[in-house]
Amino acid sequence: MEDKIKYSNLVSNKDKTNKDKNLKVDLLGLSKSELVNILIKHRLPKFRANQLWNWIYRSGVSNFNQMSNISKDLQRNLSEIFFISRPLIASSQISDDGTIKWLLKLNDGNEIETVWIPDNKRGTLCISSQVGCTLTCKFCHTGTQRLVRNLTSAEIVGQVMLVMDELNDWPSASENRYLTSIVLMGMGEPLYNYENVKTALEIIMDHAGISLSRRRITLSTSGIIPEIEKCGKDLGVNLAISLHATDDKLRDQLVPINKKYNIKQLLEAVRSYATISNARRVTWEYVMLKGVNDNIKDAKNLVNLIKGIPSKINLIPFNEWPCAPYKCSNSLEINNFAKIIMKAGYASPIRTPRGRDVMAACGQLKSLSKIIKKVDRKNTNSIEKLN
Ligand code: SF4
Repeated sequence: MEDKIKYSNLVSNKDKTNKDKNLKVDLLGLSKSELVNILIKHRLPKFRANQLWNWIYRSGVSNFNQMSNISKDLQRNLSEIFFISRPLIASSQISDDGTIKWLLKLNDGNEIETVWIPDNKRGTLCISSQVGCTLTCKFCHTGTQRLVRNLTSAEIVGQVMLVMDELNDWPSASENRYLTSIVLMGMGEPLYNYENVKTALEIIMDHAGISLSRRRITLSTSGIIPEIEKCGKDLGVNLAISLHATDDKLRDQLVPINKKYNIKQLLEAVRSYATISNARRVTWEYVMLKGVNDNIKDAKNLVNLIKGIPSKINLIPFNEWPCAPYKCSNSLEINNFAKIIMKAGYASPIRTPRGRDVMAACGQLKSLSKIIKKVDRKNTNSIEKLN
C-alpha cells in the first residue's frame, strides 16, 4: 500500500499556481444541476455533463486533454472556459504510524489541514470544513485559530480528490480502493457551513463518481441543533457528537456553544436524527481530561444521559498541544471510565491516538504557518519545540 502512495508528490505541486485560472470557472464542487446549467450558459450540449462528471469524479482527471471521448475542439473549448481545481500542497508530514498530514494552500492563500489515517490496506480521511473555527472549544487546538471563512464545496471535495491523487486511488469505486471512509472532524464546525458541506457530500456520495456510501461518512458536530435534523434528512450520514461533559456547567466551559444549545436540546436533536437505529448508532466523542471530566461519576452520568439512544462512545485520550490548558487522563482512569460504559451495554472504544508526532491527532490541527507566525512574534527560534 505504502509503495502505491506517490511520496514524491507529497510536496510536488507546491509551486503550481492557480493565478491564470482566476478568470475561468472551476467545475469542481458544482452539483450536477449546476454543471448542466453552466454548460447551457456557455451554449454547450448538456449531455456533456455526465461525461464530464465521469471524467472528474470517476477517473480523477483534471485536464480536459485526457478526456478521450471528447473531441479535440471541444477539449480546447472547455479548457478556455473552465478548469478543474485541486488544493495545492504547502507541506506534508508523515507520522511514524503512517498517518499523513497535509497542509493545503487555498487560492486566496489561506491554509487548511487534511489527515490520512491508514489502517492496513484501507484508510480514513479526516477533512476540514472551515479555515479556523468560531467555536473555541477549550481542549481543541483548532479552536485557538479564529475563523477566517467557510470552505467552498470545491475546497471540501478537493481535499478528497487530492488525497486520491496522492494514493493513486483512481478510478474511484474500485473494490481495492484505499480511501474507504471520510470523517468531517478536521478544522471547523461542518454544520456552520452546511450548504457547502451538503453539496460536497452529495458529490462524494454520487454513484457515478467517487461513490462513497453514506454509511462510510461521519459528520462530527459540537451540536448546532437547527442543522442536525436537516443533515439527517438531507444526507443521512453517520452522526458524531462532540460531547465531552455530562452537565451544562462543565460543557459550557469545554464546548461554549453549549450556552446556546444545551445538553437537553442536544439529546432531543440526536433522538430525532433520521438514521439513528441499532445498525446506525450515534457516536459520542468524549475527550479524557485529567481531573476535569474523567471520574466514575461522570461515566455514570454519561450512561444515564444517553439511555435509549443507540450509541457508541469514543473515548479520546487528550492529545496535548503547546500551552494546552489540560493534561490527558491516565490509563487507569480511562480504563475504569470505559468499564462503566461497557457494563451498561455500550461499545466504548478507547481511540488509539494517530499522528501525534506530527500534530495530526484529534483536536491538534492548526495551520503550521499560523504556529510559525506565532513563534516568530514571540521571538523564539525553535519551531521544533512545537513539533
Ligand atoms: S472541536 Fe471542532 S468545533 Fe470545537 S473548536 Fe475544535 S474544530 Fe471547532
